[in-house]
Amino acid sequence: MTQKSLIIATGNAHKIEEFELLLKGLEFDVVSAKACGGMPDVDENGSTFAANAQIKAGALRKLAPADAWVMADDSGLEVDALDGAPGIYSARYAGVEASDQDNVAKLLEALKDVPKAKRTARFRCVLCVIDHEGHVTHYDGSCEGRIDTELHGDGGFGYDPIFIPDGYNESFAQLGDAVKSQLSHRAKAVDLMCSILAK
Ligand code: IMP
Repeated sequence: MTQKSLIIATGNAHKIEEFELLLKGLEFDVVSAKACGGMPDVDENGSTFAANAQIKAGALRKLAPADAWVMADDSGLEVDALDGAPGIYSARYAGVEASDQDNVAKLLEALKDVPKAKRTARFRCVLCVIDHEGHVTHYDGSCEGRIDTELHGDGGFGYDPIFIPDGYNESFAQLGDAVKSQLSHRAKAVDLMCSILAK
């Protein structure tokens, strides 16, 4: 029997690597958006992670083969001392063309007077899956932690060098993929999705 395809709506190479690792057990042939010509440009103008994930999944659904399922994620960092910023604006916190380094620098500057105990934060991820019949489902995951005062480690991407997950003294960038794939917001959302799809 041919396996169903699940097409991942992202052009972010790091996210694809993480998803490939996380989705290993799923009975789907997991492929990137390249399989249907690449991820189309979309205007992520939703006001929530769920809305933006659905915008990306919906755009890919239009290009995907009729029998394929598509999945998109929207994720970001919520910092309590900044009332949840950068949140849905995490990728463009320091501007539309901002690099990860620019975003991290802006965040460290915004938190420069905030003491350690008040630097609590979480990564959040919402997955949106659209099946071959057009049914839409969402799955949420989060990972609690805190923002350090300086960068540590060179693994991962985005805010990984300054995010220390609860229960650890090292950043996501130092802990590496094996630990991140157990703890991360994406891992939690994928676990939830897999447990529901397996039923
Ligand atoms: P998205 O691609 O629109 O979901 O934007 C997510 C943005 O949030 C990324 O560009 C990163 O800045 C940040 N982000 C999301 N997940 C992670 C992660 O696992 N580590 C570090 N930064 C992340």
